[in-house]
Amino acid sequence: MKSDIEIALECEMKPIVRLAGELGIKEEELEPYGHYKAKLGQPLIDRLRDRPDGKLVLVTAINPTPAGEGKTTTTVGLGEAMQKLGKNCVIALREPSLGPVFGVKGGAAGGGYAQVVPMEDINLHFTGDMHAITAANNLICAAVDNHIQQGNPLGIDPRRITFKRAMDMNDRALRNIVVGLGGPLSGVPRQDGFLISVASEIMAILCLADDLKDLKERIGRILVGYTYEKEPVYVRDLEISGAVTCLLKDAINPNLVQTLEGSPAILHGGPFANIAHGCNSVRATRLALKLGDYCITEAGFGSDLGAEKFLDIKCRAAGLAPSAIVVVATVRALKYNGGVKKGDLALEDPGAVRAGLPNLQAHLENMRKYGVPVVAAINHFAGDFDSEVAEVARCLDEMGVPYALSDVFSQGGAGGVELAQLVCRACEEPGRFAPLYDAALPIEEKIGAIAREIYGAAGVEYTSAARQQMRQIEQLGRDDLPVCIAKTQYSLSDDPKKLGRPRGFTLQVKEVRLSSGAGFLVALAGDIMTMPGLPPRPAACQIDIDEDGRITGLF
Ligand code: ADP
Ligand code: MG
Repeated sequence: MKSDIEIALECEMKPIVRLAGELGIKEEELEPYGHYKAKLGQPLIDRLRDRPDGKLVLVTAINPTPAGEGKTTTTVGLGEAMQKLGKNCVIALREPSLGPVFGVKGGAAGGGYAQVVPMEDINLHFTGDMHAITAANNLICAAVDNHIQQGNPLGIDPRRITFKRAMDMNDRALRNIVVGLGGPLSGVPRQDGFLISVASEIMAILCLADDLKDLKERIGRILVGYTYEKEPVYVRDLEISGAVTCLLKDAINPNLVQTLEGSPAILHGGPFANIAHGCNSVRATRLALKLGDYCITEAGFGSDLGAEKFLDIKCRAAGLAPSAIVVVATVRALKYNGGVKKGDLALEDPGAVRAGLPNLQAHLENMRKYGVPVVAAINHFAGDFDSEVAEVARCLDEMGVPYALSDVFSQGGAGGVELAQLVCRACEEPGRFAPLYDAALPIEEKIGAIAREIYGAAGVEYTSAARQQMRQIEQLGRDDLPVCIAKTQYSLSDDPKKLGRPRGFTLQVKEVRLSSGAGFLVALAGDIMTMPGLPPRPAACQIDIDEDGRITGLF
């Protein structure tokens, strides 16, 4: 089979103006970025305000293997399959970060015959949103250090600055740095560090903001650190909320592109699914729901991280209610959860699939707790054995979960028609979506609910630092926010080595932070990488461009 980039470059895309026209978007509501990408701005959002919403479908997955197991591919293929069934469907996805593109995982525009295009643009600079977010983040950092340099009237304690610099690159050498070296004219020395841009609170905020006004207010509320008297310092105290928001005036608008089969897709925002909520912007989802009868969207990592946050943070904040949830599983990932090493995943081993199935069961049971119909998709890989697929099918039959084999990777929309039919049927079932917990509960109870109900933990243990931080958040009156737990994606627990369905473990919460602008509390359970590094031989080593501008090696 051809590589992703070969397939993508062969696609004859429709001009973006035509695609927009098919969606009923007027020319003056479209801001084209070249021929095949466009921003959808406030005038369109305003005009569609009173139009009824379509049905929202969330695509999530079991715990991933290190490669990622096909949520984006399934989302894109499902959107195309819906179109084949004659449904008016709009896909909503995150936009990729450069870090993974040049690292291990590669791009995030789907795979095979289920991709969004222009794939090379989407994976590289796209419409510049990531750069705008980076600049907005770093304006705050520059203002903080300048404030201290200029006499520090607020009394900011350089040792208690929590807001870090950002860059959209996997660059571990920037995790811990010292800034302000070089004498009095070059600032006040202090320890600092970089986050990858998708881990910036600006990204989380952009993805939750309703409009420019809300964006500016949220930016003003960002906690940057504390004074010598341990009083909080917010961005608004630095009087730069307006300037930071200016840098995001275009980035706040969702981006329209198409799939290989010409279906519409809105790509916008892409926060981490550990220290942030892991799904595309609220503005993109709302717009997709106005433009389509169905919106298919994706949440990051497994359902324990991405879907839980999609449902408990994003849907709660934006007043959204999904009509169906699709849980993606692959026999490869189930075998991995059943204890098979990465190098042996190609060998036939139905026993290992069986051993890994409790992981799938946990994700399905968890999603059912939200009162939304659940469907399973088995993402078919070329090397899968019938004996292995049969194990998964038997388990799903026993659980009474409707499922379909999805082969959108090699067939495009045609490989997802059966899944699309199941999803449409699920959307007609009566839903009664409710978040898992009440945000007004004490912080420990909220963390406890997620730990027990979703992760399967027996209990939660807190460090004394975490307890102190929770009391501080209570004093600031912000303990009524939903909780975003940052933990490993590889396990339902906080230990990446505990695969399958671990039980009886205690979740260890080391730190609790206030993402004041985003509007959630981050509980850190484990060492969470907010600035990844590159592997021994990064994907960057195989990416190339020839003298005609033809790119190879992107995947
Ligand atoms: P996720 O969104 O869950 O991280 P992706 O859809 O991005 O996963 O897929 C991860 C990688 O696996 C991509 O490189 C994609 O092309 C590849 N992939 C996904 N599904 C298949 C499949 N059925 N067969 C082969 N490769 C696949
Ligand atoms: Mg993905």
